[in-house]
Order: sequence, then C-alpha cells, then structure tokens
Amino acid sequence: MSPETLRRYLEFYQDLGIKTIYRRVAEQRAPPEPMQLPSLAPDGDTMLKIIQDIGDCRRCRLHEGRSNIVFGVGNEQSPLVFVGEGPGADEDAQGIPFVGRAGQLLTQMIEGTAKKEGIPLLREQIYICNVVKCRPPGNRTPEPDEMETCGQFLYRQLSVIKPKAICALGGTAARALTGHKEGVTKMRGRWFKWRDIPVMVTYHPSYLLRPYNQSAKREAWEDLKKVLHFVYD
Ligand code: URA
Repeated sequence: MSPETLRRYLEFYQDLGIKTIYRRVAEQRAPPEPMQLPSLAPDGDTMLKIIQDIGDCRRCRLHEGRSNIVFGVGNEQSPLVFVGEGPGADEDAQGIPFVGRAGQLLTQMIEGTAKKEGIPLLREQIYICNVVKCRPPGNRTPEPDEMETCGQFLYRQLSVIKPKAICALGGTAARALTGHKEGVTKMRGRWFKWRDIPVMVTYHPSYLLRPYNQSAKREAWEDLKKVLHFVYD
C-alpha cells in the first residue's frame, strides 16, 4: 500500500470514528420519542389490554398527585354505564370510582330508583367509570388536554362494553361524551349520543349533595327513571 493510500485509509477511519462518536452522543442527548397513544379502538380490544396500555400512566400532569389510577368498576357486560368526572380523595385512596359521599348517594339513587320502578338492580350489576382516571388536584375540573388524553381510554372502555345506554353524571362527562358545550342544567333529562349509543345527561351526585338542591335531586331521579326504563324494560 502506498503511503498516500495508507494516509487516505487512516483519514477515512478517523472520520468514521469521529462521526460514530458524534452520533452516539447525539443519540444519548436526543429527547425521548413522544409517547405513542394507543389507537382509538384496537382490534380485539379488551379491558385487560386497556389496563395494560394505561400502565403506570404519566401521559398528563394528573399522574403527579395520584395515589391510584381509578380505572372503573362493575359488570363489564352491563347494558348501562355511568360516567363521572374524575376521582376524588376517597376514590384516589381506594382506586375505585364513586366510593365517597357522592358515590354513596349514587348507589342510593340507582338502587332506590330501580326498586321503586320494579327493576331488580344492584350497583355491582352496572359499570361505573370516569372521564379522567387520576384525581385532579383539589378536585378541580379536568383540563381539556387531560380529558382528551384520558378520554381515549374511556372511549375504549365504552367500545368494549357496548352498553345499551350511558348516563353522564355532570357537565364534564356530558361534554366529553356528547361534545355539546351547553351547561348541565340545559342538557339534563335529554338524550344525546356517543357514537351510536344513547347518552342520558343528569346532575353529578356531588352537586346534589349541596343542601339547597332539592329540586335538582327530584330532576335527577326523573332522569334516572328514564334511563333505567330505557335499558331494562
Ligand atoms: N366524582 C366523580 O366524578 N367520580 C368519582 O369517582 C367520585 C366523585
């Protein structure tokens, strides 16, 4: 090999070595790939797959203050699903939706109304979940980006269950499911649709716990009657 060829070889390999080092450093410094959200309804979706996809979710800021992800509870074959806003302190502590005061009222409302209407129904026979699965700090309303990120999992849950009807509890759930921006007072008692599934909007049980809301309570009972008869008659 001539000295000239040898010099070119050395230059080439030196250059290659430097480029490789630069590439490795750049790779180490590169920001992580943005987290891929699962597609809206993967083929053959199941609750287990949704739980696995949620994993130890850090997709939005709500993960920072949570103790538990509150996925959903109840009968995954239920013809009726109740959707709330997001977990409160009790739900965050136990990992189960609607177990605090609002949850106790919801149970009474469902079971009491069903009994009065001659429909044998217990809370565990239906499915209950929320728009967001982690507790918003201080129980604030979830932000639009949090609802959008977490809403994908709600939509997958609903697609797997395929209920005959959904009951949206409060304005946040109503907006997430129907896209309507009206206040809950205007929407309650009316049927909307999430995809092809009828959605009845009613008041959130936390709102009904406030002492001056007796007439809202009566209205919520009427809304529940409607949805129960629609599903179980
Ligand atoms: N409020 C909600 O919206 N969901 C719960 O699970 C509890 C309270």
